[in-house]
Amino acid sequence: MRSLSILGAGFFSFVVHGAVSSNGTAEVKSAQKWDDVTLRAAAPRVHPGYLAVVDVVVEDDVVNTIKVANQIEVPFLAVTGAHGWTDDISKIQDGIQIRMRGLNQVSLGPNNDTAYAGGGVVQYEVVQALYQYGKQAVHGLCECVSILGPRLGGGHSVLQGTHGLAADNLVSAKIALHDGSVITASAIENEDLFWGMRGAGQNFGIVLEFEIKVFDIHPDPWTFMTFVYNADKIEEYFQAWNQLEDIIADPGLVVLNGYYRKLPEINAEKPVLVMELIYQGNDTAAPQYIEAYRAIGPIHEVTVNNIYWDKLFDITNLGRNDRVCVPSQNWAGYVNSIVRWDPASMRETYDIFADLVAIETSVYEE
Ligand SMILES: Cc1cc2nc3c(=O)[nH]c(=O)nc-3n(C[C@H](O)[C@H](O)[C@H](O)COP(=O)(O)OP(=O)(O)OC[C@H]3O[C@@H](n4cnc5c(N)ncnc54)[C@H](O)[C@@H]3O)c2cc1C
Repeated sequence: MRSLSILGAGFFSFVVHGAVSSNGTAEVKSAQKWDDVTLRAAAPRVHPGYLAVVDVVVEDDVVNTIKVANQIEVPFLAVTGAHGWTDDISKIQDGIQIRMRGLNQVSLGPNNDTAYAGGGVVQYEVVQALYQYGKQAVHGLCECVSILGPRLGGGHSVLQGTHGLAADNLVSAKIALHDGSVITASAIENEDLFWGMRGAGQNFGIVLEFEIKVFDIHPDPWTFMTFVYNADKIEEYFQAWNQLEDIIADPGLVVLNGYYRKLPEINAEKPVLVMELIYQGNDTAAPQYIEAYRAIGPIHEVTVNNIYWDKLFDITNLGRNDRVCVPSQNWAGYVNSIVRWDPASMRETYDIFADLVAIETSVYEE
């Protein structure tokens, strides 16, 4: 920022434009499409501030932008899905956004057991690209989120019970470091960095390309069930969940996705509790979950059968146009992968959420 005020905005625009290849673009703050290229899912709560946005198309665009940013002492941030929701992202002010979406190629590795992808790829692109080969990879749950955002921090998904976290499935990554130098990290190269990339990866560099494990898609179709409850069932609902955790040692490929949400078509007054049960094939503990969740007395229940991998996320409300992918929505999901709920605390969180969504105008609105 110190240098920038000396350089002036015109020169700033000139140097940033100089960093990108002929097909890449750099937008400065006055650009017409500024709002589009800076839109974030959790805005305005998460609100990084930029002087320029560089839309990369080749890896060198990333490298050159990092070098220019260092020269003029301006911070930079890689953005792919724009779904990062930690407050720390707002610490970037007067910086350069490196928009990674142009690096979105996906290809199978030579032995068909890994895939290579560009650092700007989102989940939908990977699911569809691999599906044509009968393959799947471990990523997150939502089609609009990037592949790297979840993976570099761990990465929860429907396949984690079978193949582990998304981070466990990273084989190697080509990374542009803070000074623009490029290195590869894997189990046999820069091993320490590779270890760090699988859990705290967003802090160590910008991934230009990466290799992940892929698996044959199991032929059994998936089933998607939704149970909706009024809030008077909160205690019973979480007690039932705890009990199921106690009695079912290995549920098989069963995913429980719960959240509070306003669904006015079902309850016009108050947010409801939703339990989504997603499971594959017939060889799971799903019937036990179904019996337990029916016994609580849902006010609404829906089942969709015969879902195949390429449509799974779309049908389970995790698709690109679904509410989770739409910016600035109020919904409260539960923490991932815990084995015990405290019903009293969950009642408290519900009350906080209900109060919050009862407010008509966003408290963050300027
Ligand atoms: C609707 C929604 C659904 C979600 N679902 C899941 C889920 O199913 N499983 C799960 O584990 N998590 C999930 N999350 C959390 C999600 O993993 C994180 O918010 C993730 O960081 C978002 O990544 P992004 O690229 O979409 O966002 P961005 O804001 O673009 O990026 C997030 C962070 O990753 C960094 N980053 C982006 N691209 C690169 C790159 N190429 N190299 C290095 N760093 C990079 C950014 O600098 C930033 O620090 C979800 C979040 C939302 C909002």
